[in-house]
Amino acid sequence: MKNHYDTIIIGAGHNGLVAAAYLAKQGKKVLVLERRAIVGGSVVTESFGDDFSADSVWTGGTLRPDIIKDLKLALPKNNEKQAFISLQPDGNHLTLDAESIKRISEKDAARFPEFVRFMDKAAEILDAAYATIMPRLPMNFGIREGYGLLELGLELKLAGRKDMLNFIRALPMTAQELLDEYFESDVVKAAIASVGIHSFTLGPMGAGTGYTLIHNWMNRGGLANVNVGKAGEITQALANAVKSFGGEIRTESQVTSIRVENQAAKGVVLASGEEITANAILSSADPKHTLLKLVGPQDLPPEFVWHTQSIKMRGSVAKVHLQTNGNHGIPKGTVVLAPSIKYLERSYDAAKYGEISEKPYLEVTTSRNVVSIHFQFAPYLLKNGDWSLETSKVEKLAIDTLSEYFPNLKSQVSAVKTITPKDLENVYGLTEGDLNHGQLMLDQFLFMRPMPGWSNHKTPIDNLYLCGSGVHGGGGVSGVGGRNVIKMVK
Ligand SMILES: Cc1cc2nc3c(=O)[nH]c(=O)nc-3n(C[C@H](O)[C@H](O)[C@H](O)COP(=O)(O)OP(=O)(O)OC[C@H]3O[C@@H](n4cnc5c(N)ncnc54)[C@H](O)[C@@H]3O)c2cc1C
Repeated sequence: MKNHYDTIIIGAGHNGLVAAAYLAKQGKKVLVLERRAIVGGSVVTESFGDDFSADSVWTGGTLRPDIIKDLKLALPKNNEKQAFISLQPDGNHLTLDAESIKRISEKDAARFPEFVRFMDKAAEILDAAYATIMPRLPMNFGIREGYGLLELGLELKLAGRKDMLNFIRALPMTAQELLDEYFESDVVKAAIASVGIHSFTLGPMGAGTGYTLIHNWMNRGGLANVNVGKAGEITQALANAVKSFGGEIRTESQVTSIRVENQAAKGVVLASGEEITANAILSSADPKHTLLKLVGPQDLPPEFVWHTQSIKMRGSVAKVHLQTNGNHGIPKGTVVLAPSIKYLERSYDAAKYGEISEKPYLEVTTSRNVVSIHFQFAPYLLKNGDWSLETSKVEKLAIDTLSEYFPNLKSQVSAVKTITPKDLENVYGLTEGDLNHGQLMLDQFLFMRPMPGWSNHKTPIDNLYLCGSGVHGGGGVSGVGGRNVIKMVK
């Protein structure tokens, strides 16, 4: 049958492509269907005009080393150590390393290496947990999940009791509390805490930002972003791997529904009306979109529908890209506007009340002549107004705020491209503009991601699996969802 595949994968984001490459490598007949004209999902480099191209949404990170090795990916090298710089109200730039921290506090400089050691260890432990398929609590779980948990238990024992205990303590803590245990300077604490709230709708005084700090540290390999300006190269390498193993990728192919018969997924229907059948369907689109829109409540148990509806999305990030003549004066590396813990918390407060932060937390990266500003907080759900009218407000706030630190910037800007949470939904397919396909919160992680009872990639529909950032191991860029699902696909 021409239109029949072993596996259809919905979405050519990095997780969909990782899953497709592994399955194609196993010899399966694989088809990836992507609604956009380009592959990559959130990991894309796009052109907005002549000499104006940028990693449009994703800031930086890297795939897990085993994925790179297994799929023989030719990826850009990121051995270069990147600087993480905090902008200070007095005009100084603080680089977060022991040497520069000395200027602020001798004590904090002395504690910094131990903090980095702990965070690296904590990231290692979290990575091991993410590599393990979680049991479907409160239901029984099978041998495969049981064996995985046993392996994880052994790995955790090897991590050492003290670090293990400190890791478990850190998860529910606020980023502020965790950092209070290491540092005295608010400036140092705030700069580091910003990584804990990057891409989440949380402030550094929120429970669980200890966990999100470790999560982002793990995906970046530290404080600073890696692979800035190279997003497109990563997903192109993955797409090439899929094709080299014999898989097919079709762009401009939006799936409008998943065909279900007798509680089993049989195929998909495209916006063009075309139907394609498969033995298994993997979706790397977010769980809400996949289950509520593509399957639909009519084919799902009522309690499961209620759980899916309850997944907290809450996107609150906008991106503002500036084309300049290159003389913007912004240093290379990851530059943050996070001058104090209270500043960050107040930025977040705005989002709680459906408002755009007037004093935003910014994370700025540069690639050649382009300055990319990650803006928080810009909530998807605005109390007043709507995004068609508020785009210029975010744009102005981002440029004005950054220009306070780089006065020449404004006069250098020749073009601007702003991406709002609404654009993240409409263009990039992210429900409620949530970058991670669901917030990373204490009630939405480990065996509760995407929802309790369904943390092992399966769904109530036979042969339908989830593999995007919304599953255990996501969000962010790591490829973990796409790699882990392979263990579960029949
Ligand atoms: C602004 C922003 C900043 C970020 N910063 C960071 C960061 O600094 N560090 C980090 O680690 N992560 C970051 N992230 C998060 C990270 O990029 C994502 O979590 C991750 O890339 C998601 O990958 P994915 O493959 O799971 O899903 P996606 O990249 O979302 O891919 C899903 C794909 O499915 C397609 N699709 C959806 N529905 C359908 C359909 N019905 N039919 C066909 N195709 C469909 C979409 O078009 C998309 O291509 C950021 C994300 C954004 C948006």
